[in-house]
Amino acid sequence: MPEIPLRSYDYAPQLGWSSTRWETFRTCRRRYFYQYYARYDREFEQGRIQRLRQLSSILMTVGTVVHEVLAALLRRLLRTGAEIDTQRFWPFVERTITRELAKTSLMEVHYGQRLAPEPLELMGPAWACLETFLASDRYGWVRDQLGSDPRYLIEPPGYGEARLQGMKIYAKVDVLLESGGHTVILDWKSGRRDIEKHTRQLLGYAAWAQDNMQVPAEQIRCVVAYLQPEYEEIEKQPTKAELEGLALEVAAEIAQMQSLCQDPQRNIPLAKDAFPLTDNLGYCRHCAFRELCDRVD
Ligand code: SF4
Repeated sequence: MPEIPLRSYDYAPQLGWSSTRWETFRTCRRRYFYQYYARYDREFEQGRIQRLRQLSSILMTVGTVVHEVLAALLRRLLRTGAEIDTQRFWPFVERTITRELAKTSLMEVHYGQRLAPEPLELMGPAWACLETFLASDRYGWVRDQLGSDPRYLIEPPGYGEARLQGMKIYAKVDVLLESGGHTVILDWKSGRRDIEKHTRQLLGYAAWAQDNMQVPAEQIRCVVAYLQPEYEEIEKQPTKAELEGLALEVAAEIAQMQSLCQDPQRNIPLAKDAFPLTDNLGYCRHCAFRELCDRVD
C-alpha cells in the first residue's frame, strides 16, 4: 500500500496554533518573539538571531538521531521483517550521530559550557532509547503491521498543517498506520515524561488526522511512546467532546497570542517591548537566546 497522501491548504497569513508555539508563548513572551517574529527585531542583526534560533542541545540532538533511526528502521520493515543485524545497525546509528553533529551547532558549545562532544558520547543515550524500543511489544506490533502492507505515514514532510474548526493548526506526527479499522498515530519521546503536556499533544495529532485525512474521531488512536528509562506508553482514543474542548482551548490561546499582534490578520507583531522577558530564570538556563537578554550565567 502507498504512503498516505497529505492534503494541502490554501495560504492563510494568520498565525497557526501548535502546542510548541503555545508552550513557547506561555513560558516566555520574549523567546516567543525571537522564535516566531525575529525578522521584526530592530535591535540585533538578523543573522545573529537566526544563528541562535538554529542552536540545538545535546539532548535535542539525541532525540533527532533517535527519530531518524526509527524512521529508517520502520522504512526497512516495509521491505523486510528480517532480524536486525546488530553488526550493521550500531555503526549505522553512529554514522547518523556523526552526520547530525556535523550539521548542528550546540548551545552547550556556543555558551562555552563544554567542548564539542564526540559521536560516541551520544551513542549511549541514543542506544538506550533504541534498545528499549526494539525489546518492546510495540516493536513487534509495528513489524507485523508494516509487514501486512498498510496505508502509512513515516515522518511525513512539511509542518503538519491542518484546520480545527477553521483555525490553522500544526501537529507533526512521527508515524501513522491504518490498522484494524483504526488510524493509529505513534509519537516517540526520548526525553522526560510530561503526561499532561503530551496527552494534549495527542489531541492535537487527532485533530490533525481528523481534518487532514478526514478520519472520524472514534477511529483514531494516539500513542505516546516513552523510550527511556524504560519503555512506556500513554494511549488515547479521543472523543468528539475532547476534540471540541481542544478547539475551544485553541481558540482562546490563538486569541491570547493575537493580542500581541498589531495586525492579527497578517500576523504582524507589536514592537518587541510588548514581549517581556520571563521572571523564571529556570527557563533562561536552557534558552538559545540568553545572550540577547543578558542572562548568560
Ligand atoms: S533568555 Fe530567558 S528571558 Fe530571554 S528569551 Fe530566553 S527564556 Fe526568555
